[in-house]
Amino acid sequence: MELIDTHCHLDHEYFKADREQVAERACAAGVTRWVNPSLSFKNIPTVLALAEQYEGCYAGVGIYPRYCHDWQPIDIDRIRQAAQHEKVVAIGEIGLDYYFNIKASKATQFAVLMAQLALAAELSLPVLLHNRNLETYKDTLQLVAESPLAGRERAGVLHYFDADYDIACRALDLGLVLSIAGPVTYPTAKKLSAVVSKLPLDRIVLETDAPCMPPHPYRDTKRSEPAHVRVIAEAVAAIHNKRVEEIAEITTQNACRLFAIPETGKA
Ligand SMILES: [Zn+2]
Repeated sequence: MELIDTHCHLDHEYFKADREQVAERACAAGVTRWVNPSLSFKNIPTVLALAEQYEGCYAGVGIYPRYCHDWQPIDIDRIRQAAQHEKVVAIGEIGLDYYFNIKASKATQFAVLMAQLALAAELSLPVLLHNRNLETYKDTLQLVAESPLAGRERAGVLHYFDADYDIACRALDLGLVLSIAGPVTYPTAKKLSAVVSKLPLDRIVLETDAPCMPPHPYRDTKRSEPAHVRVIAEAVAAIHNKRVEEIAEITTQNACRLFAIPETGKA
């Protein structure tokens, strides 16, 4: 069984001490590959270095809402440059976030997101989209709809999908896929499970968003890691009444299609 963690941050300091063991545990759990997006210009080199170090590691390059307040138009060239690296498979992590402590105004966030959506379309790369709440989901989908990515087959992914079925349908219509993360494993996540049960299996991928939000039963560990994709796959399998092997196969194929990477990775 092969799984792909389509979104994790192994460059995070939480993994500094034991990244090697984390990568080994991922492989042992069948998670042969993972995509590590950048958040800022500061960590793009680290993310690219990890992609060079680990065969199973791919990178996303992009600027996250929290780090886009001092954006200059010329910055898009820096991302374009970084995206030339052979292990870069996406533009991300990008998106919108109106949380109170985010410095960038809505207008700045819109401009930075639109520039990065256009770059992704230019480079034929999918986008890894971050959202905070219903308002950002709606605005993000509106901007994608107005961008040249709209309707493309490999437009991108709504990472850490936790919205309602209406948002899911709008995203699917735009060509996006939905990435299911740890919360789907929580016994209390009834609403999310109900939405996931209605999603077409050929349009979902799996992720941990490590080190954030460990899935059940790892919530006490305070840190998620790529190996945990397996319990997320098991939860999706239970919701869809399928075997976990089937969910692994389908979601791995979906991720390979999305990121244009080989159909099998090396265990
Ligand atoms: Zn992330």
